[in-house]
Amino acid sequence: YRAWETKKIPTTCPHCGTGCQMNLIVKGNKLVGVEPINGAANKNLLCVKGKFASYKFVGSGDRLTEPLIKRNGVFEPATWDEALTLVADKFTQIKADHGADALAGFSCSRSINEDNYVFQKMVRAAFGTNNVDNCARVCHSASVHGLAHTLGSGAMTNPIADITTDVDVILLVGSNPEEAHPVIGAQIRQAMQRGTKVIVVDPRKIDLVKNSELHLQIQAGTNVAFANGMMHVILKEGLADRKFIEEKTEGFEALEQLVAEYTPEKVADICHIDPNDLIKAARMYAKAEKAPIIYCLGVTEHSTGTEGVMSMSNMAMLVGKIGKPGCGVNPLRGQNNVQGACDMGCMPYDFPGYQKVANPEVIEKFEKAWNVKLNRNVGMTSTQVLPAATDGNIKGLYIFGEDPIVTDPDTNHVRHALENLDFLVVQELFMTETAAYADVVLPGISYAEKDGTFTNTERRVQRVRKAVEPKGSARQDFEIFCDVMTRLGYPCHYDSAKEIMEEIAQVTPTFGGITYDRLEETGGLQWPCRTLEDPGTPIMHVGNFTRGKGLFMAIPYKKAQELPDESYPYLMSTGRMLYHYNTRAMTGRTEGINQIADRSYIEINTVDANRLGIQEGDKVKVSSRRGTIETYAAVGNRVFPQEVFMTFHFPDGNVNELTNAAFDDIAIIPEYKVCAVDIVPV
Ligand code: SF4
Repeated sequence: YRAWETKKIPTTCPHCGTGCQMNLIVKGNKLVGVEPINGAANKNLLCVKGKFASYKFVGSGDRLTEPLIKRNGVFEPATWDEALTLVADKFTQIKADHGADALAGFSCSRSINEDNYVFQKMVRAAFGTNNVDNCARVCHSASVHGLAHTLGSGAMTNPIADITTDVDVILLVGSNPEEAHPVIGAQIRQAMQRGTKVIVVDPRKIDLVKNSELHLQIQAGTNVAFANGMMHVILKEGLADRKFIEEKTEGFEALEQLVAEYTPEKVADICHIDPNDLIKAARMYAKAEKAPIIYCLGVTEHSTGTEGVMSMSNMAMLVGKIGKPGCGVNPLRGQNNVQGACDMGCMPYDFPGYQKVANPEVIEKFEKAWNVKLNRNVGMTSTQVLPAATDGNIKGLYIFGEDPIVTDPDTNHVRHALENLDFLVVQELFMTETAAYADVVLPGISYAEKDGTFTNTERRVQRVRKAVEPKGSARQDFEIFCDVMTRLGYPCHYDSAKEIMEEIAQVTPTFGGITYDRLEETGGLQWPCRTLEDPGTPIMHVGNFTRGKGLFMAIPYKKAQELPDESYPYLMSTGRMLYHYNTRAMTGRTEGINQIADRSYIEINTVDANRLGIQEGDKVKVSSRRGTIETYAAVGNRVFPQEVFMTFHFPDGNVNELTNAAFDDIAIIPEYKVCAVDIVPV
């Protein structure tokens, strides 16, 4: 393109939770490129997804451009009035026949805060239920629960720049940032070049291992034992911060008693590591002045996910490394606005700003603000809604921008759930695998076609700006929700996303000082930001913890729900690859990306591959108790013998046909990271 024929619209990357700032380059009504700008989190960097896969999907010929109604099993174009009237009629009927709690909604962690706020308002105020959730359920709900319980706030404690600049040691647990959050990965690598020592705790030899100080290649599912072992060594060697513990925490005695059992030898046996490495890691972490814990889904996506997260809090509190620069407990959130979808109350037990559904004062406050009588029952999580649909207790489901057929564990079980619904609405950009099951499909619009805000992993609210007009009759998402609400007898209208943010600030104390004018002035504000004078909160829990005192939790190690046996002898874990983002709905529509990464693969150790007669690139069949898929072998030593790893992006060779729908009791998060499989050559 010729530069003088284009304009540049500053916005936020629509892929991972890093929240990189960039210009969309626009020619006419078409996006023709992307360039980085100097955001707080990205410092002029963009990764391959941000640079190349953030604009082509917007103008893709696959975009949905008109509402569709399924008649006799076939989708037919419909007017907006026909489609929305049908949605309202069906949901009204279900509510009349089965009660409001037979309805549910899944919101979109990729869409803007303002859409998410209006979505949960629609479900609570117009559907009349708290059955609303978002994809954090299957990625970081364990962080929201675990950190809120121990520290008082379920979010990253320190900013990205703070934990990747001038820190002494990074304890990186269950996180592969060079592929999942590449700009953060690049900043960690730059820190390593400046002398930061990195301890990688991961079942795979991720690329950062090469330059790290230490790699603890623990078996997937043993995070709690690892953390207890670290704390055992720290206490035994007198490296705990006793003053911090005494002044700022509670629950220490029970923790001290429990971790006394977790000797390095015992932990080494559980985790399959060298006990001397555990001792070395504990000393390095405890003795460093600045040492953040950075973690990701390797900690959360377990049947003990919340306990794993609480174990991260335990370690940080034990050495007093919280509420200080260059320290803290830092979950890297996956989707661009999964932090925001949670903040906006797209969760069954929390209104916006984590105000509790179970608290009658909160209910009364929202009843007054929204002028409606609200349901007082805590709702179901998305992972409870799907089994409830199978059982016939959920009858109507509204899915906004999520694709559970591809993303949720045990795909067969998800198919049955969706087939068993009386009515399914899907609001989407593309005809996804889940949309194919819908009764009505509504075309929404992408981040490049709307104004709004995303909140990145470090709690920074940043602007998203409209660059192009949507195609066809696709509509602004919050306007669609307002029209549905109005048809359901709860009239609702907003002129703009800015007006919605004004309402969010009024009802959400932690967003009280966030306005579009201030976001323009500052480039972004980190919540809590309570008043117009409040500069925001880069580091949380300074002075006191948000909950008052930090709470230690004594957590015994429990095994994963399904471990290898004679029939399924390999322990499988799953994760993201650099080039693709989740279901590939966006990255899969970028030609260059597909040329580099067009198929799924399974990492298998050379020892196993030789025994099975499998060579690099061979097609293999992978089976679990739930299904069988075909994929391609990537042979090497990134995983231990008897362990394998698969990417989760590809509907062909969908790893979730195999994963186990075993759930954490607290966050109801699935155990994507451990299941038992068998492999045979094809
Ligand atoms: Fe986008 Fe994440 Fe890459 Fe940044 S690191 S450019 S936010 S995908």
